[in-house]
Amino acid sequence: MKNNRRIFLKDLGRYGAGVCLSPLISCQKPPKKSLGVALVGLGGYSRGQLAPALQLTKYCHLSAIVTGSPEKVPEWQKNYNIKDSNVYSYQDFDKIANNDEVDVIYIVLPTALHAEYAIAAANAGKHVWCEKPMAMNEKECQAIIDACKKNKVRLSIGYRMQHEKNTKTLIGYRHTKPYGDFTEIIAQAGYAGGGGTGWRHQKSMGGGAMYDMGVYTVNAIRYATGLEIKKVISAEHIISRPELFKEVDETTQYQVEMSNGLIAQGWTSVGESKNLLRVNCDKGWYELSPMQSYNGVQGKTSDGILLNEYVESQQALQMDDDALAIIENKEMMVPGIEGLKDIRVIEAIFRSAATGESVSL
Ligand code: NDP
Repeated sequence: MKNNRRIFLKDLGRYGAGVCLSPLISCQKPPKKSLGVALVGLGGYSRGQLAPALQLTKYCHLSAIVTGSPEKVPEWQKNYNIKDSNVYSYQDFDKIANNDEVDVIYIVLPTALHAEYAIAAANAGKHVWCEKPMAMNEKECQAIIDACKKNKVRLSIGYRMQHEKNTKTLIGYRHTKPYGDFTEIIAQAGYAGGGGTGWRHQKSMGGGAMYDMGVYTVNAIRYATGLEIKKVISAEHIISRPELFKEVDETTQYQVEMSNGLIAQGWTSVGESKNLLRVNCDKGWYELSPMQSYNGVQGKTSDGILLNEYVESQQALQMDDDALAIIENKEMMVPGIEGLKDIRVIEAIFRSAATGESVSL
């Protein structure tokens, strides 16, 4: 009974429901207009993209940080006016449950840590935003989804591209079919470099090209067509620098079959730069290139239409879309199941590359 009452009160507080339990005093609490976000893991993406974007957002703001590096704290507090009581370590992370200034916990950790902290965030009664790739495997993705469901909190995956305007135009074409039926999809995402440092070279941490960049190609094949991938026909890892890529893939190419028999070609690399989403149709084609950069996403079509760059923070768009969906209790644009479906395909790509066989999903 006591527990039920606590869950009931927690639910009321979470959605800012204006329900008054006392008949004598007016205790209407208006719904929040801007949600407080706690960033978990103050690495390159949090520092370089998410925290600056949270200065541009309308429906959410940076209210707290969770870090294992105390030396990072003073600069973050100074730059973003974060008070002492809103700074957490991984050890006292669970105390965030009692902090009303945190509505959303955004997991920006190495991939192998996503599930543990996303589940802890849900158990703390906070909404969860989780970076891509969602987790190491389908089982972990499902565990995150289940934890959010159990705790009645919302879950979204940090697929910024689906919030970007030219990408949304391309997604719209799958409904209007201006160039006829699809004949082939090509998705390529890679950058020239060493593939990062530390965990990005460790298999157990979720390093390698396919998890890091390849997930964009799988997601793009799915959002461009609105179809599910039913079979990995073939997949191959290519390592040109074995001294650097001892455990993880440097480049991976794959071919998949969609639910209607359409074929898509995927390619990803952390050693070579390509950035293309091309949709060939029976009456023409269209493409985005680059298709997944932070800036400059632009495209063209076979009849000369140009999709010019929008100068907007993709991360701010993403977080505002997701915050507003929570505030207005609407569908998330990219819910957890989208992350799970991509990871299911990535696991199949790895199986196909290891065995040389096709893998059905
Ligand atoms: P970084 O390596 O730059 O940062 C990760 C941070 O996680 C570290 O700085 C650290 O923060 C924390 N951390 C906790 N435990 C560990 C550990 N065992 N090893 C390493 N770091 C640890 O990674 P990124 O910020 O580039 O990536 C983080 C996540 O964001 C990944 O899932 C990645 O795929 C995703 N990402 C998404 C992008 C997008 O465009 N959507 C772009 C880039 C990354 P602290 O010191 O504060 O504890």
